[in-house]
Amino acid sequence: MSQDLSRDLDPRDPHSINADLHCHSFYSDGTLAPAVLVQRAKANGVELMALTDHDELGGLAEAAEAAADLGIRFVPGVEVSVSWGGETLHIVGLGVDPDSPELVAGLAGVRSGRDARAREIGEQLAAVGHAGAYEGAAAMAGNAGLVSRTHFARWLVERGACDDVRSVFLKYLVPGRPGYVPHHWSRLSEAVNWIRAAGGVAVLAHPARYRVGELALTTMLEEFRTVGGTAIEVASGSHTRDQVRRFARIAAAEGFEASRGSDFHSPIESHADLGYAPVLPDSVVPVWHRW
Ligand code: AMP
Ligand code: MN
Ligand code: MN
Ligand code: MN
Repeated sequence: MSQDLSRDLDPRDPHSINADLHCHSFYSDGTLAPAVLVQRAKANGVELMALTDHDELGGLAEAAEAAADLGIRFVPGVEVSVSWGGETLHIVGLGVDPDSPELVAGLAGVRSGRDARAREIGEQLAAVGHAGAYEGAAAMAGNAGLVSRTHFARWLVERGACDDVRSVFLKYLVPGRPGYVPHHWSRLSEAVNWIRAAGGVAVLAHPARYRVGELALTTMLEEFRTVGGTAIEVASGSHTRDQVRRFARIAAAEGFEASRGSDFHSPIESHADLGYAPVLPDSVVPVWHRW
């Protein structure tokens, strides 16, 4: 796990507040309970955190309560799956009201196809010698409504098919490999609308992860702005320093605010531990000036 705090954090400087606005609990594809995540964040020096489970708000109440007990500032969040031009994008919503009817209904729709997809993934894996994958992945999921590729990956590791989750995603579960089932998530405009209807701000998650060229990236950012997107996750646990610099330049040039998040899933799988995403450059406006 790379620990990339490249300069000392000065609590008087809003840039250097240790904000971690992207992580996952076992309500989606993380392995820890919400309260355990909050304790870990606190132990790592995080001052402001958001829980952003995939397409799911179920862990927010527990996380908020733990954060209040431990004296850490908490922002309720979510990470919405979006289908855009043949690519899956992730839009983080920050500061969302978990009781918003629009958001609750929208996310229920996004989750609804997951089980059928998971069964198909299981069938494809059975065809290459991994029978029982659906049952195995479902048993590993903390939330029966949210069986994700990560759970299949963990099951394949447990079975000895690959050494770790990252290598699973080179051999299985991705386009052109066994266990990849294309899926229709939400539209970009829908995801942003639900987040805004819930009083939140929309953040384009880990932009360096999308397999798109310059032109498509420009189109993506234009469309994201047009539909009401506010910020880009410049500092992600999955970004290199060069990628942080690149997206800081883009955020400043295009008038987007900037977010920072580890995208922590588990103590043994994630690029960065809670609180250890790269630091935001001074050239950008941190999205957390709002909280
Ligand atoms: P799903 O929403 O079911 O398609 O699963 C997507 C999840 O798989 C992401 O949120 C990541 O946690 C995980 N994932 C996708 N690609 C990779 C990768 N290359 N390495 C590790 N985890 C990945
Ligand atoms: Mn995930
Ligand atoms: Mn993501
Ligand atoms: Mn994530």
